Amino acid sequence: MRATIVVLTAVLAMTACGRLAPAPSPPAQAPKIAVVASFYPLYEFARRVGGEFAEVRNLVPAGAEPHDYEPTPQDVAVLHAARLVIYNGAGFEPWIEKLLPGLPAGVESVNATEGLPLVRADAEHDHGPGKEPKDTHGEKALDPHVWLDPVLAQQQVDLIAAAFVRVDPDRRTTYEANAAVLKDELAALDERYRRTLAACRRKTFITSHAAFGYLASRYGLTMVPISGLSPEAEPPAARLRAVVRAARAHRATVIYFETLVSPRVAETIAREVRARTAVLNPLEGLTAEEQAAGATYVTVMDANLRSLADGLDCR
Ligand SMILES: [Zn+2]
Repeated sequence: MRATIVVLTAVLAMTACGRLAPAPSPPAQAPKIAVVASFYPLYEFARRVGGEFAEVRNLVPAGAEPHDYEPTPQDVAVLHAARLVIYNGAGFEPWIEKLLPGLPAGVESVNATEGLPLVRADAEHDHGPGKEPKDTHGEKALDPHVWLDPVLAQQQVDLIAAAFVRVDPDRRTTYEANAAVLKDELAALDERYRRTLAACRRKTFITSHAAFGYLASRYGLTMVPISGLSPEAEPPAARLRAVVRAARAHRATVIYFETLVSPRVAETIAREVRARTAVLNPLEGLTAEEQAAGATYVTVMDANLRSLADGLDCR
């Protein structure tokens, strides 16, 4: 009995040590780079670029909406322990931009919209009751949703690859090769979008929040959002009336909703104009079900394309 306890204690002690300090790696193998991405698409891009040399964590958990996410003390600890922090910027995650100045000097951070052709969007509907307008100078807010344009997403991959090279220059060729493979997939996705959306009977779609502005302008479509740049639980009644008018004017047969936000408002509008509802996923996060089903950026974007082609009657 006593021998068993002694052995157990020894095993527990070893396990505890193992958690605190990773087992020594073979000399040729440097430890993986600790990378933190603020939300799903950047997490996937970072995993693809970093490959076997990176341990990437997604800060916003499955099923959560990153626009209004509130970081936990554990998230803050994860950021402090990172070598590389990747965030979208352009006002998408103000909560992470607030934490950046407090991070240790050794943490490299990447604004994944740096240098991208950002546009300002109508923020008129972006401040529900109790919220302050995003921009106090009366200027329209920046639209952060660049990842939904497969062309701009390739530029985000370049920024991420450049950051990996900065923190780990010895593996430059690997990171650049991984990025090239991913960008080829995104270019093929762009080609499918171009081909499919080139011949549609309708060009205007009604969507939950204004996430698809870059995608719409890339492929010659017009987005009519129910909410502004962030999801809203209860858009103002005047806005709902305007959306109903637009849906009728454009003979919309589908009102799109999102996976991480209640479909209630989209359903109300759909009933009003006798349309169906369908998902158009802004990829701000995967649900636990999507994650379990092995969804990726490209599979979700292909599903979005099918959904758009259906709603816009593309041949
Ligand atoms: Zn959004």
